[in-house]
Amino acid sequence: MLLIQGLSKTYRGSQTKAVDDLHLDVRRGEIFGFLGPNGAGKTTTIKAVVGLLRPDTGRITVDGTDVWTSPIPAKRLMGFVPDTPEMYDKLTGRDYLSFIADVFEVPADQRDKRAAELLEMFALSDALPDLIQSYSHGMKQKLAVTAALLHRPSLLILDEPLTGLDPRSSHLFKELMRSHCDEGKSVFFSTHVLEVAERLCDRIGIINRGRLVAVGTMDELRQKAASGESSLEEIFLELTRE
Ligand code: ATP
Repeated sequence: MLLIQGLSKTYRGSQTKAVDDLHLDVRRGEIFGFLGPNGAGKTTTIKAVVGLLRPDTGRITVDGTDVWTSPIPAKRLMGFVPDTPEMYDKLTGRDYLSFIADVFEVPADQRDKRAAELLEMFALSDALPDLIQSYSHGMKQKLAVTAALLHRPSLLILDEPLTGLDPRSSHLFKELMRSHCDEGKSVFFSTHVLEVAERLCDRIGIINRGRLVAVGTMDELRQKAASGESSLEEIFLELTRE
C-alpha cells in the first residue's frame, strides 16, 4: 500500500539527517504504528509521504503511485490528519467539509452520507453550523478526521492522532482505524502512546535519530530485543537508548 524506499531528508542549515535512508512498507489491511523519541524523524517522514516536504533522496509510492511525480493521483489515495490540524477558523464545520469535498471532487450524492456517518459517530452534527474557531481541540481533531475520510482514501495517515483526546474520543479513533483496515484499507500513524500501539497495531516501526531501528509485529520486535519477552515500552527503551 505504502512503500518508502531510501528516504533521506536534511533540513537547510542542519548538519544531521532528520531522516536517514528509511525503508518501510505498510501493507493492505494493516494498522502500522510509527514510534520514536522526540525529534526522531516521524513528522518529517509523514510530511514527505503526504507531499508536504520534498525529500533529498528516496521514492515514496502509494498503491504504486509515486507521491512526488504523480502528486494528484497519489493524494486521492491518501487521507491525512496532521498533529495540529490547520483549519479555517472563520468557516463553519459544514462549510469546511463542503470545501474539502469540493477539493477531492467527492460526488454531491455521496459526501453528505459519508460525512453524516462520521459526524454522528463523533457526536459532532450539532456543531456543524458553528465557526471552527469555537471548536475545542478534540472537536477539531474529529472534524479533521471526518474531512480526511470524505473521499474514502485507501491509506489514512495520522500524526499523533490521540494527543489531547478524552477517553471516549480516543476509543472512537481507535475503532475507526480498525474499521478502516477491516475494509481492506490501511492506517499509518505516529504515536507516543506505547500501550495503544501495542494493542492496536498489526506492525510497528521504531525510528531513532532518523534511522529505522526495528520493524515488525510485536512478536518480531520481542525477538529483536535482547531482553526477550518484553513489553513494547521495554523494547522501545532498549532500542532507542542513547
Ligand atoms: P516529535 O516526537 O517531537 O514530534 P518527530 O519524530 O516527529 O518528533 P521531526 O519533527 O521529524 O521529529 O524532527 C526530526 C529532526 O528534524 C529533529 O532534529 C528536528 O529538530 C528537525 N526538524 C524538524 N523540522 C525542522 C525544520 N522545519 N527545520 C529544521 N529542522 C527541523
